[in-house]
Amino acid sequence: MNNILEIIKKAENTHELTKEEIVILLKDDENRDELYRAADRVRKKYLGDEVHLRGLIEFSNICKRNCMYCGLRRDNKNLKRYRLKEDEIIELAKKAKSYGYQTVVLQSGEDDYYTVDKLKYIVREIKKFDIAITLSLGEKTYEEYKAYKEAGADRYLIRIETTDKKLYEDLDPGMSHENRKECLYNLGKLGYEVGSGCLVGLPNQTMESLADDILFFKEINADMLGVGPFIPNEDTPLGKEKTGDFHLSLKVTAIMRLLMVDINIPATTAMESLEPEGRSKALMAGANVVMPNVTEGEYRKLYALYPGKICVNDTPGHCRKCITLKINKIGRYVSDTKGFRKGNDREVV
Ligand code: SAH
Ligand code: SF4
Repeated sequence: MNNILEIIKKAENTHELTKEEIVILLKDDENRDELYRAADRVRKKYLGDEVHLRGLIEFSNICKRNCMYCGLRRDNKNLKRYRLKEDEIIELAKKAKSYGYQTVVLQSGEDDYYTVDKLKYIVREIKKFDIAITLSLGEKTYEEYKAYKEAGADRYLIRIETTDKKLYEDLDPGMSHENRKECLYNLGKLGYEVGSGCLVGLPNQTMESLADDILFFKEINADMLGVGPFIPNEDTPLGKEKTGDFHLSLKVTAIMRLLMVDINIPATTAMESLEPEGRSKALMAGANVVMPNVTEGEYRKLYALYPGKICVNDTPGHCRKCITLKINKIGRYVSDTKGFRKGNDREVV
């Protein structure tokens, strides 16, 4: 057996790899299908065939940050900005529940219009629909995270983007890598299910640095991990850079599953924006979650993190049916639970 197959076998059996071994897997393309199949077996063994859906509400594209890769960055004057009112967000969450979602993800740029009081109101009202809430609002203080948690928020997504401090601080001007890590730590301390993840294919990112990302996620015991290829946006300073590689993103996803058997891993929208059936391929390489869009009308298009985003002209009802078909087509089914991390045992039956 060649060395690479042995590393895959070790990962499948022990769920431990060294940084060097991860780098070897990331660099290899010959055996990548075997890597995906091993991750798929681990997913099936620990989590079965159910897929958790999270309805994504993109409620504001206004952002005070200036991340070099992101179309919502404050210096992008080429984007019509929008912000949904509190009651519009609550209404979208209610509709999400009616489509059968058990979780909504509220995501936005870092928009200070939404004060702690406004967010507490939104979270409290949405919790009345008996639905889990994931927030993805960027960096906030410990007290702010605490207030949202007390209002009923269950989970929080904040990608580290990259664990390479220099690369991070070059790409996220004015932001501190320590603070990003502190946010993850604070969220865990407050009892959130914590989601993180990274971008794959950033300019100057190395395989070694991606391996560090994976080991970092294992070390902090993240509950959810989303990985997306970097997709250059013309309206940003990185507009002329190379697009991230789909298969490299898939390899990162598969290795994450091999090393973290019971966490929730989404098949991300960015993956399908690059590759036809990209989300189905991710679901067959370790992923067990999909986050269909429930944002309505022109806002979908205006939430333009990167170009080529899928489903921008579709309705929430259409996306719900379409994703169910895709999931069934690969022999999987949509879960009817809230889909907390298995080991966390929070499910109320
Ligand atoms: N403002 C919040 C949430 C919205 S951004 C935050 O930054 O955490 C959500 C994610 O979009 C980011 O974490 C980033 O990983 C991703 N993203 C931004 N620009 C992207 C691009 N050009 N290609 C792929 N993903 C991108
Ligand atoms: Fe704002 Fe998030 Fe985009 Fe950075 S990645 S500019 S914080 S929306």
